[in-house]
Amino acid sequence: MAGRSSTPAIGIDLGTTYSCVGVWRHNRVEIIPNDQGNRTTPSCVAFKENERLVGDAAKNEANRNPTNTVFAAKRLIGRRFSDASIQSDMKLWPFKVIKGNDDRPNILVNYQGVEKQFSAEEISAMILAKMKQVAEAYLGCTVKDAVVTVPAYFNDAQRQATKDAGLIAGLNVLRIMDEPTAAAVAYGLDTNDVSSTVKKDVLIFDLGGGTFDVSLLSISNSVLKVKATAGDTHLGGEDFDNRILNHFVEEFRRKQRKDISSNPRALRRLKTASEQAKRILSTTTETAVHLDCLYEGIDFYSTITRARFEELNIDLFKKCIETVKRCHEDAGIVKNDIDVVVLVGGSTRIPKVQQLLKDYFSGKELCKSINPDEAVGYGAAVQAAKLSGQGTEEIKNLVLIDVTPLSLGIGGLGDITTVVIPRNTPIPVQKKVTRKTVEDFQSSVMFRIFEGERVRCEDNNLLGQFSLYDIHRAPRGETKFNVTFEIDNNGILHVSAEEPISSEKKQITLINREGRLSTEEIDRMVQEAEMYRIVDDQFKKKVLAKNSLEDYAYRLRKLAKDDKVISKVPSGYLKYIAEAVNKMINWLKHDTPKEVHVYNSKKKELQEMSSALSGMSQCGAICSDADGSNSRSDIPDHYDAKEDYYDDYY
Ligand code: AMP
Repeated sequence: MAGRSSTPAIGIDLGTTYSCVGVWRHNRVEIIPNDQGNRTTPSCVAFKENERLVGDAAKNEANRNPTNTVFAAKRLIGRRFSDASIQSDMKLWPFKVIKGNDDRPNILVNYQGVEKQFSAEEISAMILAKMKQVAEAYLGCTVKDAVVTVPAYFNDAQRQATKDAGLIAGLNVLRIMDEPTAAAVAYGLDTNDVSSTVKKDVLIFDLGGGTFDVSLLSISNSVLKVKATAGDTHLGGEDFDNRILNHFVEEFRRKQRKDISSNPRALRRLKTASEQAKRILSTTTETAVHLDCLYEGIDFYSTITRARFEELNIDLFKKCIETVKRCHEDAGIVKNDIDVVVLVGGSTRIPKVQQLLKDYFSGKELCKSINPDEAVGYGAAVQAAKLSGQGTEEIKNLVLIDVTPLSLGIGGLGDITTVVIPRNTPIPVQKKVTRKTVEDFQSSVMFRIFEGERVRCEDNNLLGQFSLYDIHRAPRGETKFNVTFEIDNNGILHVSAEEPISSEKKQITLINREGRLSTEEIDRMVQEAEMYRIVDDQFKKKVLAKNSLEDYAYRLRKLAKDDKVISKVPSGYLKYIAEAVNKMINWLKHDTPKEVHVYNSKKKELQEMSSALSGMSQCGAICSDADGSNSRSDIPDHYDAKEDYYDDYY
């Protein structure tokens, strides 16, 4: 564990649809509001001609600029382009996803006038960097260390990719933490169950925007021990939205005989309306959708009832309940022995989900006492404080024991996977196995590492493969290899193998993971992320300088119309100022962005006019908004010069 750190460590819940950041301060967790005052931030990035927007501003851009507004990157991270889930999601996404190196999905956008590809890690990094910025603005200092959460059911590649995203964002990722475990920390501290000596079995039902997790934990004596976890990394609010979206697309096709599915803007507008309808249906039984000029000038007016919404999604809701069953069965606990069922994630507000869950637990009341949108960020902030030595004694004493969600093993003869670490094994863990040669005088051996519950290798997920060469040559079965599987605190696997007899002992760590970013790629992305940040900063400075000039021009125009000024200043000079200011305002309306110094030097000219006016009229000069000062200077000799004085600049 790290020693006490002077700068605060933050906890980030990197969600599919919304992200949340928290910090431990003044002996409690503070959920940090963003620049809009919102406690959660849309996990959305928009690329424009001149700037890149992240969060609320990006979400607002989605309907206007759908092909360049990226959301749900968490659904892509650590996956292959050929994954069935990506192939089906892509059909409903207004932005383009293409196949990159090693079957990785890349997002294609137009940024600053050129086509640009981004990996899911880079998009996630932009969201993480935004959350870092939100925290820094709130805390007034630089933040480096962070705990980032992932769904408990994220596999090895998805965890690694999330960690890489943190690196690209310039964060030191202290820990990748499971979302339900973070929520359980929030629940345990809120109810004081963590300090109780009475053991409670708590089921966390976490249904968010894009992922679904169930974890069963026992909580007592400051120990939160995960007994089993189950879930679906591709099930959540986005899917419910898509069902409504498809329903409306069909309705439009039926009524208008037109297919809107190839029109990104119409699709995006309908999707936003579908999500709103879904939220409203959590409190009412019917809602209307009105979209003017949705497609080819045709308006779309429709209604949807809660019953219809439930019918459209019932198979997905039932799938959630089956996952709950699998989880407690894996933990060896009968459902009636579960003490508390805690709801986490925005989608648990859906009444049908709550009803099915309550029915499954024979009418047991569900725990809704923790904030479903903030619980994960809260728990992550606690873990961040603990790991950086910043929490109270209660926090320092907390022990969190997670499990690995999927079995991990080696591919062997007959295409069979031999499990080395079974699923739901507590982590960190290290296991060693011995393998033997399968042929006489074999000179090399290849290891293939798999993840999953199936027997045949081809049905599991290949994590990576590596070989040992120049091994000790001997009859079949005589040369042995020690293979070590190690899962670290982040749930990330490291594998090594050695052949002890050979004079050249070899130990190879699994580095060439399938579909993962290489170190060089990560380095490049870190540099690019920094470059984008600088470009964003420069753009912001330009906008500020432009606004400041515009503001000054309007105020000068007002001053020149003031009665006291009119009575004391020659009308020729007032006319000159009026014309100069009007020209400036007109130029500002139509100009393409200029460098900061251009705006500043123009402002200086206005400031000189303002000084002259105030000198002649004895009125106060206009204060500059930057430093409150205003440089006084003489009236320019050429103040009565003709209109073309400013032509150089326009
Ligand atoms: P989370 O990832 O936990 O922030 O959950 C976000 C998801 O919760 C999104 O898909 C939202 O549409 C969904 N959500 C939020 N509020 C509601 C609500 N009142 N009814 C249904 N779904 C909701």
